[in-house]
Amino acid sequence: MAFGVLRSFFTSRHALVESGTGTGKSIAYLVPAILWASNTGSKVVISTNTINLQEQLIHKDLPSLINSLDMEFRYCLVKGRSNYVCLRKLAMLSSEMEDEVDDDLRLAFAEFISELSHVTTGSRSDFHLEAPVEIWERVSSDSMSCLRTRCPWGKKCYFVKARSEMEDADILVTNHHLLFSDLALRMIMPDSPGSRVLPEYEYLILDEAHNLPDVAEEHLGYGASLLNMQRAHNELVSVEGARRSRGGLLFSLRTMVFTAKPDTEDSLVQKIVSCIDTSIEATRRSYEASASFFQSLGAFLKYASAKYRGGNHAVRLKEDITELARWRDVILPEAENAIIRGQELARNLNQILELLDMLEEDSDNGLRSVQGDIQGVVGRLSSETNALSLAVSMEDSEFVYWGTSTPSDIQLNATPLNVAPYLRRHLFGMTESVILTSATMTVGGDFHFFKRLIGLDEQPDPALEFIFDSPFDFKNQALLIVPEDLPDPRDPWFIEKAGKLISDIVLASQGRAFVLFTAYTMLDRVEEIIRPNLEQSGIRVFRQGTMPRHRMLTSFREEPGALLGADSFWQGVDVPGDALSCVILVRLPFQVPTNPVYEARMEALRAENIDGFKSYALPSAVIRFRQGFGRLIRSSEDRGVVVVLDNRLVGKWYGRAFLSSLPPVNLTVENSSQAVESVRRWLGSQ
Ligand code: SF4
Repeated sequence: MAFGVLRSFFTSRHALVESGTGTGKSIAYLVPAILWASNTGSKVVISTNTINLQEQLIHKDLPSLINSLDMEFRYCLVKGRSNYVCLRKLAMLSSEMEDEVDDDLRLAFAEFISELSHVTTGSRSDFHLEAPVEIWERVSSDSMSCLRTRCPWGKKCYFVKARSEMEDADILVTNHHLLFSDLALRMIMPDSPGSRVLPEYEYLILDEAHNLPDVAEEHLGYGASLLNMQRAHNELVSVEGARRSRGGLLFSLRTMVFTAKPDTEDSLVQKIVSCIDTSIEATRRSYEASASFFQSLGAFLKYASAKYRGGNHAVRLKEDITELARWRDVILPEAENAIIRGQELARNLNQILELLDMLEEDSDNGLRSVQGDIQGVVGRLSSETNALSLAVSMEDSEFVYWGTSTPSDIQLNATPLNVAPYLRRHLFGMTESVILTSATMTVGGDFHFFKRLIGLDEQPDPALEFIFDSPFDFKNQALLIVPEDLPDPRDPWFIEKAGKLISDIVLASQGRAFVLFTAYTMLDRVEEIIRPNLEQSGIRVFRQGTMPRHRMLTSFREEPGALLGADSFWQGVDVPGDALSCVILVRLPFQVPTNPVYEARMEALRAENIDGFKSYALPSAVIRFRQGFGRLIRSSEDRGVVVVLDNRLVGKWYGRAFLSSLPPVNLTVENSSQAVESVRRWLGSQ
């Protein structure tokens, strides 16, 4: 693998490197990256999807290579802004705490300050005690409210210091989200290198690259939400339940302008105050307009879901729905009103910011700080209003439009149908060499599907391809079991029978099991069925979402029970050793057919006379299936069983696509009671 990476750097080509678990892939790309950076003076950026891998690179792999390679090189971890304390916000919160009536919050803030005095980096992950969310949210740095060169705290700013360290490093370790934020800024502001997240680079290694399509989709999509709108308005004027004292930023600013600049020309102060008063009224109008729009949208989504979308939570906004009179005559005019009011408010606020700039440079720090906060609100408000305007117009046919209404929020979203053209142009077209590596990118040993998904299929200079199999002995370490007597998973009786069997299997494996689902509705029902039985037998049941993921995994390692998970637990979760000996895949991981984005993609393929099942649904599910299967064997010592409750794996023609993508493993097809016995026997013989 190391030679493959060097070859693609030397030849300025992109490369796809599938490298199974246990191949030592991080060392295999770090060594050539270090050699390349040291010998050519070029920076190499390494991007991962998970914090775990980032920490492994920074705290384990790179330090060990410094010793063993006996070479001098500099590396640094590039984190997002929101990981750093903003000193401007901290000063602001300190003064607000003087009036705070909540004693618990005041105490938590005092502890936070004492902790910060030991953290020279100002970075959240360096805190020994976890910073409370309600404090962190109010002091973390963000680009929209940052005063940059005008900031009175700029010289001491933690974030500014971290970014200057980055300029000196040869190897930069970052994450996919930050990488895409940087790509977005390069796209919007090609001539403004100062506002980018990362320095110039030509060589990029993307680890956990199978996540690339999802991350790109998330960054290219946009949306507006009731909650975000309410938050932004509440910060300006405490319309409803906001914590900020003195009734919101605009009231704070009003008081400050009067007191901070007693000697300023009266007419400028009067102008600012009058603008603030106009903005307070504009905030109220805009708040009411957006609240009214989202309430109507929520009611409409509930109605449309029940009548046209079989009660689905996410409602695709297609012509059948958007041509209804209720959409045309109620939703669209309300949206237009919310957009107009939002734009009017943003204009007023921008006017205040301009007038504040006219105050002398040595103005009071508190006033400059409020100016930064208002600037942040303008940025967020404008982005929500723009997203709303684009989403209701639905003019771009390359996007899928959909909405959700839950008790906590109402959202309108737009997701790109295809991220390949964007990646082709802005990632692969702008970088000398990109190495994509992961344990799961191929289907049946072929990169074709993944290359098409990310836009690497039409390159004039084709990408290099390498596959390195896992060194583990799957035939002796793992057993794959398919109970053949369960009903088809689409049968209404499936879930009851599967629930009973899951309970028996977990008892046979004495916990130590992951149970992976494709939908929360199924997870909920199975939990109801198995929890009483398992807990009575002393096996703890962990459910995804009931505690932070890393804490849940730590508890699971200490007290191996049954962990019920969906989406993110199919990948990136690492539990080596006996603590995880059984993985149950409840269904083949096909996407839910009513998912708005999936449905639109299948329609688009049909329109081109392409078989969507073969070319999109099946390969996506195979990659996911390989990820779920891959949770079991994480080291050469591991041993265990994977039970797939979906017998389409052995009964349908497409089952072969899944089986042929697995490493060589013994497969047992038998009835449910024999399957339970096999689990007991296989694990009992450890
Ligand atoms: S420069 Fe920006 S992030 Fe740093 S303290 Fe000032 S406002 Fe905060």
